Amino acid sequence: MVPDPCPPAQEIRVLNGGLQLPELRDGPGYVDKLETTSFGYPSLSHWCVWIEPDPEGSVAGNRWLKRWAGAVDAALNSWSEVIPVTRVAESERAHVLVFRKRPPLRQLASGWRASNGRSLLKIVEVRREMAIQLEPRVKVMVSPELRASVLQSAALHELGHAFGLWGHSDHVGDAMAVSQGAVPVLILSARDKLTLQWVRSQSNNFEQRD
Ligand SMILES: [Zn+2]
Repeated sequence: MVPDPCPPAQEIRVLNGGLQLPELRDGPGYVDKLETTSFGYPSLSHWCVWIEPDPEGSVAGNRWLKRWAGAVDAALNSWSEVIPVTRVAESERAHVLVFRKRPPLRQLASGWRASNGRSLLKIVEVRREMAIQLEPRVKVMVSPELRASVLQSAALHELGHAFGLWGHSDHVGDAMAVSQGAVPVLILSARDKLTLQWVRSQSNNFEQRD
């Protein structure tokens, strides 16, 4: 029998700890811009992703709901060409949860600023199928109130954080660029792929290894 790649969680306990600067910041792409955790880079060999479904009883064909779902799908597809990702229908099976929600305003020196997306990392101890393991758990918010291309680009960027790229590139053509250029980035750059590959090659204390 093939094991379930995304077994449901029976119990989730949030641990203390979050992102921190690594001791050594050296590697390809923009590895030197990334943060890690005290358990290593928050990366899993296989990711299970839940995306907020259309609200119950919504009118079929609601244009903005469709646009949001389409953009998030497209962004997730780009990542799943590079890493193993399974989309799940039940949130208890997921490591990454994507919500259709405008992120809270961010306070900057210049005032309050709206953002298109936000990702929040927690480190959790999870019991799945009687085994207990450490996992990153990421809540992603992608604002629905955006143009389709900006929406897709925001989703691509936030999912990049979720899959382990906790930092920003200073090249405008990268999905993980610190600020968007005039043209929204809809595809992963070679630097995005190289950086993630490096993160995935590092040993960490997440998930069971056999
Ligand atoms: Zn970001």
